[in-house]
Amino acid sequence: MRETDHMTKQVAVLIVAAGRGSRLSSGADSLPKQYLDLGGKPVLTRTMQVFLDHPCVNQVLVVRHRDDQTLYDHAVSKLASYPQARLLPSTVGGETRQASVYAGLQALQVTNPCHVLIHDAARPFVSEVSISRVIDALEDGERAALSAVPVFDTLKRVVADTGRLETVDRSGLWAAQTPQGFRYTDILAAHSAALQQGRQDFTDDTAVAEWANHRIALVDGSPDNFKITTRDDLDRARRRLTMATQTASLADLQDIRTGTGYDVHAFDEGNAVILGGVEIPHDRKLKGHSDADVVLHAITDAVLGAIADGDIGMHFPPSDQKWKGAASDRFLIDAIDRVKALGGRLAHVDATVICEEPKIGPHRPAIRESIARICGLPIGRVSIKATTSESLGFTGRREGIAAMAAVTVRLPFGQEDLS
Ligand code: MG
Repeated sequence: MRETDHMTKQVAVLIVAAGRGSRLSSGADSLPKQYLDLGGKPVLTRTMQVFLDHPCVNQVLVVRHRDDQTLYDHAVSKLASYPQARLLPSTVGGETRQASVYAGLQALQVTNPCHVLIHDAARPFVSEVSISRVIDALEDGERAALSAVPVFDTLKRVVADTGRLETVDRSGLWAAQTPQGFRYTDILAAHSAALQQGRQDFTDDTAVAEWANHRIALVDGSPDNFKITTRDDLDRARRRLTMATQTASLADLQDIRTGTGYDVHAFDEGNAVILGGVEIPHDRKLKGHSDADVVLHAITDAVLGAIADGDIGMHFPPSDQKWKGAASDRFLIDAIDRVKALGGRLAHVDATVICEEPKIGPHRPAIRESIARICGLPIGRVSIKATTSESLGFTGRREGIAAMAAVTVRLPFGQEDLS
């Protein structure tokens, strides 16, 4: 950003939060979506915070529903911090999104900003970069700038009279996001003219600007900046936040440990092997006291190794009848619980399966998913590799399967003397 430019040019942000969220809200979640809880704060609070924290935003104004004063006040009370002067008093919106935006634009007449960015309250994952791109385009002289992402999915249209499907040419197609930025006087005039001519059907503000024949620049948006519209969107938003929180706390765990593990099980009469918690059809099984999951055993030993806490045989002795036929995920979960008890976290798993048969490749995605689930890790932190031993040695003679594993465990410093 060019700091000198926007010191003088006022940038206002209008956050549209007047909707009732009827597609999402039902029963227990009767709140409008912008007030639903997202990791301990209303969605609106998170959206407001991004703009209030942006160095080039001078004013933020929220357009709310007339019934939502209390909800709005609560959302403001949850802001981490903000320069009081930047947050203008909220304005009451209208029956449609278009009417609400117009009400917000009229309220901004008092401050008469140079540029205005209009943003959906239900897009809390807007990034500082996306906001900067819109502001930059306006300050480079564009009359309007639309944050958008290219459409990659193949699009189909149902032909109304026949019900047949046809494929829509997606070249040149973009999915509009917000923020959408405008010269303030332009968009106010366009909205005003639209209303005067009885047009109340615009679903976003660049549509109003298009109607008024304004040139609109496209700037790169982000797939992360999705709008929370459905229950699935809300679940996705909550998952995304959980992951962000987990990653943030990894940064606090500075004692980084590596552990390795190795295990072998021999083949026996049977019809399937269990690897990484996944049953794989085969003309033999693996012999063992438990379910003989050689991959999970190697990973378990690696986790125990990283915290210098013995090995799998010490914690789960084969002599103990309790573990006969046991599913091996409980060994791994127990090892990970030992990490958690030290205030630490498992951060990464990499395992190699060594055998001539069965072929591991086709099962790799399922095995990764299974291990990620057992370990509570994102799939990107779990790797499974496979190799033969070129017909050499016991694995080469197809007498059994070997597995090796390396894991990264992160602990707070100060756990050196434990155990
Ligand atoms: Mg074993």
